[in-house]
Formats: sequence, C-alpha cells, structure tokens
Amino acid sequence: MEDVLEPEKKRTRGLGTATKFATSHHRAPVITTVPQTQGQTTAPKVPKKTGPRCSTAVAPVLKTQKAGPAVPAQKPDTAAAPPKLGGKKPCKRPAWDLKGQLCDRNAELKCYRERTQTLDQENQQLRDQLREAQQQATALGAERKTLEGELARVRAQAEQGQQELGNLSARVLELEERLGTQEGLVQELQKEQLGLQAERRELATRLEEQERRLQASEAALSGSQAEVASLRQEAAAQATLLAEREERLHGLEMERRRLHNQLQELKGNIRVFCRVRPVLPGEPTPPPGFLLFPSGPAGPSDPPTHLSLLRCDERRGTLSGVPAPPTRHDFSFDRVFPPGSGQDEVFEEIAMLVQSALDGYPVCIFAYGQTGSGKTFTMEGGPGGDPQVEGLIPRALRHLFSVAQELSGQGWTYSFVASYVEIYNETVRDLLATGTRKGQGGECEIRRAGPGSEELTVTNARYVPVSCEKEVETLLLLARQNRAVARTAQNERSSRSHSVFQLQISGEHAGRGLQCAAPLNLVDLAGSERLDPGLALGPGERERLRETQAINSSLSTLGLVIMALSNKESHVPYRNSKLTYLLQNSLGGSAKMLMFVNISPLEENVSESLNSLRFASKVNQCVIGTAQANRK
Ligand code: ADP
Ligand code: MG
Repeated sequence: MEDVLEPEKKRTRGLGTATKFATSHHRAPVITTVPQTQGQTTAPKVPKKTGPRCSTAVAPVLKTQKAGPAVPAQKPDTAAAPPKLGGKKPCKRPAWDLKGQLCDRNAELKCYRERTQTLDQENQQLRDQLREAQQQATALGAERKTLEGELARVRAQAEQGQQELGNLSARVLELEERLGTQEGLVQELQKEQLGLQAERRELATRLEEQERRLQASEAALSGSQAEVASLRQEAAAQATLLAEREERLHGLEMERRRLHNQLQELKGNIRVFCRVRPVLPGEPTPPPGFLLFPSGPAGPSDPPTHLSLLRCDERRGTLSGVPAPPTRHDFSFDRVFPPGSGQDEVFEEIAMLVQSALDGYPVCIFAYGQTGSGKTFTMEGGPGGDPQVEGLIPRALRHLFSVAQELSGQGWTYSFVASYVEIYNETVRDLLATGTRKGQGGECEIRRAGPGSEELTVTNARYVPVSCEKEVETLLLLARQNRAVARTAQNERSSRSHSVFQLQISGEHAGRGLQCAAPLNLVDLAGSERLDPGLALGPGERERLRETQAINSSLSTLGLVIMALSNKESHVPYRNSKLTYLLQNSLGGSAKMLMFVNISPLEENVSESLNSLRFASKVNQCVIGTAQANRK
C-alpha cells in the first residue's frame, strides 16, 4: 500500500511550488493587484527619485488607472498648487511674479511627464508580468489536468491496490490456514522423525551387532573356505575312488545277476511249491496223519520239501470185507509249506525269483489247485487288508520297487506297467476296466504289439504305469470290484476263470547304454476240480460242464506246453488256450516258472488234492532249457 502511494507523495512533494500556484490560482485577481501593491510600494520610490514635485503629479494618473483607495483623489485646487520639492514647502511667489510662477508650472509639468513615463514603463512591466502570470496559469492548468489524470490513475491504482490487498488478505488467510495445517503436519512429521530417529538408532545398534557377527562369520567363513578347499580335494579323491568303486560295483552287480541266475537255474527253471492251507473255522478236522510233512535230510531245521497224504480206499475195504489199510502217497517238491506257514515265509522263498524279472528274465508264477484251496489267498492275500495276510502280488511289487530304488544308486532306472485280465470260457476280460466298461467282458483280444513283434498285448485292456504300493493297492481293489460285478448267484465266476496279473518291467542304465525288459506274471488259475460225473445234467449243470471243460482244457494245455518245452519239442501248443497264448513269452526259453500247488487240508477233498499233487509232480519233473536274460 505504502509503495503504491509513495510515487504520488513524491510527485506531490516535487510539485510543491505548483501546488502553491494551484491553490492560489483562484485568487488570480489578487495577483493582478501585485503590481498595484508594487506600485504602492514602488510609488514612494518615485518621489525619492523625482523629489517632492512628483507626489502631486501621481494622483491624476492613478485616477485614470482606477487606483485603489490607497491613493486618495486630491482636490483640483490642491492639485493646481505648485509641487513641493525636497519636502520643502515651495516658497510662495508673489502674485506678480508670473514668470516665476510659469517657471514653477513648467518644472512641475516636466516632473509630471517624467512621472507618467515612469508609470507607463511600470504599466508595461505589469502587463508583461500579467501575461507571464497568465501563461503560467495556463501551464499550471495543463499541469493540473495532467495531475488530475495522474490522480485518477493513482486512485484507480489505489483501488486496484485495495482489491489486490483484499485478495492478498484472503490469500494470506488461506495461507495462514494452510500454514496451520502444515504446522500440524510438521509436528506430526517431527514426531515421526523422532520415532524414526529412535528406530534408526536401534537399527544402527543392530547393524553394529550384525556387523560384529558378520565379521565373526567372515572369520569363520575364511576358516571354512580353507576347510572346503581341503574337503574339495578330499572329495575329488573320493570321487575318483567312488568312480572306481562304481565300476567295481557294476562289475559285481553283473556278476551277482549271473550268479543269481545260475542259482535260479540250479534250483530249476520250473519250480513247484506245495502249499497246504489251514483248516478254517467250522470245517471238520482231518484225521491225524492225513497229511504229513516229513523233514528233509538235514532234520527239522531243513525247510520241508516232502508231503505225504494218506487215503483210505473205502471200495477196496468193502470188497474184501476187511477195512483196507490207508494208501500213503508221497510227493516231493522244491518246497512244501505246511498250513502254519505265513505269507511272509512264502514270499521270502520267491523274492529271489521275482528279482530275476528285474535282471531281465521273464517270470511266471502260477497258483494251481481246486476251488477253496487258497490260490487267491496266496496271490492277492486274505480279506480285511491285514498286512500280515498280504499276498504275493503286493509283496512282489513292493520288493521290486525297493530293489529298483537300490539299483537307481548304480545308475539303473526302472519303470513298471501293470495290467490285470481274466480269462473265462476262453474270453479275455479287463479287470482294470473303469467307467462304463466296468464289469463287462468279452471285448478284449490278445494281439501282437506290432507286425513282426514278439510282444503280446491285450486290446481294450488298461495298461497302468505304477511306481508305488498305493497304486498297486488301488488296482487290486478295482480288480476285486470288477470280479464282484460279474459274479452271479449260481456261478462263483472268479473260481471258474484264470486271473493274470502282468507287470511289464523295463530297466535302463543310461550311463552304460544297457537295457533290460521282462514281464512278471502272477496267475491265479481257475479251480482245477473236475465235475462230479454222477451229477444230473440240468441246464445249469450243462453250463457248468462247458465251463469245466474249458478250464480243464486250458489247464491241461498248460501242462502240455510245459511238457513240450521240457521235451524240447518243435511244436509247443501255446495256441490251444488263451492262457498259454497270452503267457507264451513267459514260458520256456529264458523264462523262469514257479507253480504253487494249493492243497485243501480236508479229508473230503483228498481226491482233488491227489489230482493236483499229481499234476504238480509232473510239472516238477520238467526241466526247461537254460534261461537267457532278455538283455539288449
Ligand atoms: P481259492 O482261490 O483257491 O478258491 P481262496 O484263496 O479263496 O481259495 O481260499 C479259500 C478260503 O481259505 C478263504 O476264506 C481264504 O481266506 C482261506 N485261506 C486260504 N489259504 C489260507 C491260509 N494260508 N491261511 C488262512 N486262510 C486261508
Ligand atoms: Mg480264488
């Protein structure tokens, strides 16, 4: 504000003289009196110059110039009187002295003329002054207008300044408000800063601590690095040693496989184990001595390999009238398992054989016997999922997975693919079928995997890769469900069909470019019992007869195939049954075979037991050529 007003003040100050004129302007007429006053003041000067004679001569001039009352008009007689010179009263001339008087009058006239001249000059001077004053007044008027314009501008500026001031005040208020907010914010920030400073101090302390620790760690690290360097050297030495050992281990593994195979061959490429199931609750106890398990040559510590069965021939006793002594039938097998033998004990005996499949030898394990003799129990296991009664299939797979895991340490990688089919009345059905195909049979066919291929495959059957026990359990459960769906009231179909669990094993040693592949077959054969010839042949029985004939035919084909292989016949009748056709790659040649002959402990089953034991004995006498590992 002050700044806005300042130039005006300055201007006002600068125009001080002009203002004086401006303010006195309205009194211009007074100015015109100035020469009069001057005249008044200067008037007395005139007499000084002209002397006392002039004082009387002034009056008439002033009269004509309308002089102010300062100079009063003189009476004519007084005016006619001779002028006083030098203040001295002129001496009165005698009336007769006309000449003297004329002289006086001339002197007086001269004085007046001089006086008039002076006054004219003064008048001219005053006029000049007046003109000058008027010019000044005009200039001042113009200046006034300029100043008025300037004043208006200054006022407008002042107004604008006021407005600006108002705006600025509002802005100041707003800024003050913001300042208040900012101050609050600043306080908050200061508080926060304090907090952060405290935190920073804490962090600095921690940092120091960390640095101390780091230093300690660095010291430890440098120690460790030295240790690592020495350990690396050691490791390099160990690696060389390890490579050497791996080489040796591989040599040993190959040697183990060779010896293992030799051992298996010595044990026989066809082996027969006899297993007698226990008497089940509710079943009649067989007479003492009905089944005997004589010890081997090394005494009771020797695993039993002999079995004796006592049979009373009632017909012979009736003919002679005297009860005939019971006939003792002795059998010898590779191993005999009496009723008390557990599943683990049985598996222990076949574990080595199962392992042969990992080494590349096809393996086939059968369970042969009449219905109810314990074939399914041996292969799949007992009811209830009790691990104690787990059968050969889950045990064999667990064993294979674990050995494959061990061999992976030596560079072997194994993969397993499972399938499970049922052969009923010479038709193949997938036991692993799911969804809409579940429980339906008959659509599967056994075909060569490809033109010229030795490998066989079952069309429409599922081949499921497995890598753990859980997956195998799921498959066995599915197979059980599939069998249950197909079961009818009259026909316990599972007993009337062969169940074939096949596991394709493939192994690879990438480092050495070795590969091996072999199938492991676990077969639960159909009940070997013959149909009672005394039975009347109703429609149900006729169907049963057809089934039995089919079973008997396929079982006898199995026997014939084994015989043909044993006798090294040129023709092996694999094609005579679906079972032998499916298993042809796992029978003979490099294959290893094991047959469990399952026997019922009951006396009422003696006839069937004898049949089974006779069939098994025949098989046991077979020797099939030297097995060759299926290695590439
Ligand atoms: P198969 O399959 O030969 O017809 P199963 O395996 O079904 O015979 O056995 C018939 C019955 O005998 C089943 O109840 C089974 O649990 C039982 N069983 C078979 N073998 C044994 C055994 N070694 N220990 C206990 N029970 C057995
Ligand atoms: Mg069964």
